[in-house]
Amino acid sequence: MEALKGIAASSGIAIAKAYKLIEPNLTFEKKTITNVEAEVERFNTALATSRTELEKIRDKANEELGSDKAAIFEAHLLVLNDPELISPITDKVKSEKVNAEQALKDISHMFIMMFEQMDNEYMKERAADIRDVTNRVLANLLGVQVVNLSLISEEVIIIAEDLTPSDTAQLNRNYVKGFTTNIGGRTSHSAIMARSMEIPAVVGTKTATTSIQNGDIVIVNGLKGEVLINPTPEVIEQYRKEQVRFEAQKAEWAKLVNESTVSADGHHVELAANIGTPNDLEGVMTNGAEGVGLYRTEFLYMGRNELPSEEEQFESYKTVLEGMKEKPVVVRTLDIGGDKELPYLDLPKEMNPFLGFRAIRLCLEEQDLFRTQLRALLRASVYGNLKIMFPMIATLDEFRAAKAILLEEKEKLVAAGIAVSEKIELGIMVEIPSTAVLADQFAKEVDFFSIGTNDLIQYTMAADRMSEKVSYLYQPYNPAILRLVKMVIDAAHREGKWAGMCGEMAGDETAIPLLLGLGLDEFSMSATSILKARSQILRLTKQEMKELADKALQMSTTSEVMEAVNQATNK
Ligand code: PEP
Ligand code: MG
Repeated sequence: MEALKGIAASSGIAIAKAYKLIEPNLTFEKKTITNVEAEVERFNTALATSRTELEKIRDKANEELGSDKAAIFEAHLLVLNDPELISPITDKVKSEKVNAEQALKDISHMFIMMFEQMDNEYMKERAADIRDVTNRVLANLLGVQVVNLSLISEEVIIIAEDLTPSDTAQLNRNYVKGFTTNIGGRTSHSAIMARSMEIPAVVGTKTATTSIQNGDIVIVNGLKGEVLINPTPEVIEQYRKEQVRFEAQKAEWAKLVNESTVSADGHHVELAANIGTPNDLEGVMTNGAEGVGLYRTEFLYMGRNELPSEEEQFESYKTVLEGMKEKPVVVRTLDIGGDKELPYLDLPKEMNPFLGFRAIRLCLEEQDLFRTQLRALLRASVYGNLKIMFPMIATLDEFRAAKAILLEEKEKLVAAGIAVSEKIELGIMVEIPSTAVLADQFAKEVDFFSIGTNDLIQYTMAADRMSEKVSYLYQPYNPAILRLVKMVIDAAHREGKWAGMCGEMAGDETAIPLLLGLGLDEFSMSATSILKARSQILRLTKQEMKELADKALQMSTTSEVMEAVNQATNK
């Protein structure tokens, strides 16, 4: 039995057959063709193959998943048989003498754009159907295999080089029991999504795709960061028992769902959830979150071909605000860049994307895009308790510029007679060291801070959060990080403001005692970490944790701090 070491990205244990994900390469070149008839024939063959594939998939879906799930493939078949889409493609091949790939791409793009711009959800879904179908035909033209993650219909563990956040979003929890990747760290976005979907995951194994073959039996141990390949029946049995123990533990935590989070000596802290889409609200409720501490709005912009409209954004924000009733909802404005790409924006490739043109930097330059989002948020503000925060703020000038744009949009809406809440708090993510160091100045102008430790640690330690090679430098308990966190919390409190944390550190078992001691007001984490964190905080005494934190701030290494936490919390 071979074992791989990786980074424990999402807890739990999964045992199933390996399913290797190999992304098809759908790139091609535009060509002028001479034999038009042969090209049309080639296109018709690709259509016929796609039709046979889709019919098979539809029948399988019908049998195994039921007719409502199969309906989507019925819709795909309709697209494939639609002369209004297909005829213009063959016409283009004939009249312009271009290869079928190019004609397919141009015509389908035109239809996708047309449907996506319609103000009708049903029509928008048709755009997604056309995209899926044309990708399948394109793959058949190019002779490559398409993978359809949402179609997996037996229990598997996905093995991949990396999973993009949109791949992760497509995973069907009923069948995808776990995943493991070659690259990525605990704070890469696929890991964050795995936690919110409760799919056990181990990332950064370096060699999963070469060490594991399709069909191998694999155990993903998301508690320890281990992947076992073709284990013996005895080992499988042992891990099944471990699975049962983990489930029992979760059932214990679940009893705390309606409790408030108060330390043993009576101090309340707020436990909030990080979400990516309105669909995550269910997990927020079932895990007893006291608010949403980070709504990563960029997921609304991903997995599609153009920017979401103001109306579409408004609907999503309104759904979340209404769903949370009057509980606080901190919405972060668009944070694209780094490991979150938007291919349709056509941004220049950068040498260091995490240090480049991302988040607020992009929004201050692409103001139309920013203003659309702000208008949608302002209009939604009357439906709940909205707080807005800007990501990646490095200077006060950036904050002031972003705030000025927000106020301009607000004035315009009010002048047009549109209701906007007067109580929206405005804060920033503290994820760049310059901002942490200057927190005392920022605290005079912002309403709150939310410390983004995923980036704050990456920038303080100069260690790419996507790189498994330098993942040892992701050191949330390093006294350097603790001192920065303290500066931010103290600066907020001196100005009567609150400080939260929405990086992964906020839900980390070893960090929680330290953060409680440092006086953090709000802890925002993957919804699935909340009940465990609550059970931990109920047992801690804030005064004792303050003494622990004071000592930790004077220590010199991460391991000393870990040792001190373990002792203080009797682990
Ligand atoms: C962070 O950087 O800590 C954070 C919460 O933002 P993201 O992980 O989306 O970069
Ligand atoms: Mg960040």
